[in-house]
Amino acid sequence: MGSFYNSYSDDDDAPSPREIFAAAWDMFSAMFPTNESRIEALYERISAAGNVACNKCGCMELQRKYGSRVARCSACKAQVHFTSGTFFHGKRALGAIFAVIWLKELGVFFSKTQIHEHAKVASSTAWQIVTEIDMLISERLESDASAISFESSLFQPLVCKRSFATPAFKHPRAEQFELEKDLYGPPSPGPAAAPVSPPSKSTAVIAGLSGEEKLVFDLISAGPLNFEALLEATAIPYGRLSAVLLQLELQDLIERQPGDVYAVVEPKSAQPQSRRARPTGPRHMAPPGPLPSSANPAPAANRPLDDLDAELESLFTSVVRTLHGVSRKYLQLHLASYWCSVDRDRWPSGSLFDLVLHASALNRASIRAFVTPLSVKMIFA
Ligand SMILES: [Zn+2]
Repeated sequence: MGSFYNSYSDDDDAPSPREIFAAAWDMFSAMFPTNESRIEALYERISAAGNVACNKCGCMELQRKYGSRVARCSACKAQVHFTSGTFFHGKRALGAIFAVIWLKELGVFFSKTQIHEHAKVASSTAWQIVTEIDMLISERLESDASAISFESSLFQPLVCKRSFATPAFKHPRAEQFELEKDLYGPPSPGPAAAPVSPPSKSTAVIAGLSGEEKLVFDLISAGPLNFEALLEATAIPYGRLSAVLLQLELQDLIERQPGDVYAVVEPKSAQPQSRRARPTGPRHMAPPGPLPSSANPAPAANRPLDDLDAELESLFTSVVRTLHGVSRKYLQLHLASYWCSVDRDRWPSGSLFDLVLHASALNRASIRAFVTPLSVKMIFA
């Protein structure tokens, strides 16, 4: 993965995502120290991609001040916007847009907050810029023949941010449930329903949990969660949350998994065949239809899955360390953004600019309307 940085390994010597971003930003601001210099760089890229001409008389001799987005035609004196007819036309904060493209072309994975803080734009502007570009990358991802489909529930551990799609007074993960309910209908009650698992020794233990323990256990019961997500979802201070998790672990209610992820310990008596259907680790999207029989495992197929698990592990680590979790609504866009940062073969220098230049700008309403579908697409480099 010839990325700007090698990986987010747990190596103590490896720079943190924050340090990587800081180094990349230093490089950017050394090359383009002022807003004018950023607009100038954008002008050079746009004029290199096609001639910038007067749209009144077609004259290509334009007079333009350094760093200005407006030029004057030498022949007819009309005002010419060099962004005319491109994605950039009418956009404010051109310097920040250029910064976002430049950083992504370098393979840096960053948050909207980092753009807000460093490019000195409002957080809503940073949100708009990054989301819009991520939507374009996501469209490219979804149309790529090598994209793999996953159930979006696989990425539930990353979901800990609220969005407009989060049901009121519910944890952001409830979005997944609401979507599945819309698709599959509510679980049907009655005699045909799945057998209720018999009360186990843990039922009594769960009943005896303290308020905070119960809160944390309920969150983890909805699906595996990492420490950062739990911190954000519960607002329990760091040290106390660690103690609560340890208590739950000691009572055999939850277990700690790689990547600082906490999951519920399933009772051993409960339906062994259904354990495969509930992935505890990253897995391919399950094919529709009956569950595969556990009698014929396919060891040969495990090899690529192990590689995929490693890729997913890096993705989870990067997203948690850089974005501190995502909203379910925009999950697909974050996956696309991550893909762009690691897949340097498909995203060589200049390719993102080419994609953005000829794209039509998206309005705020269409960005707000975006909701990650139940089946997400991803490409691993
Ligand atoms: Zn003219």
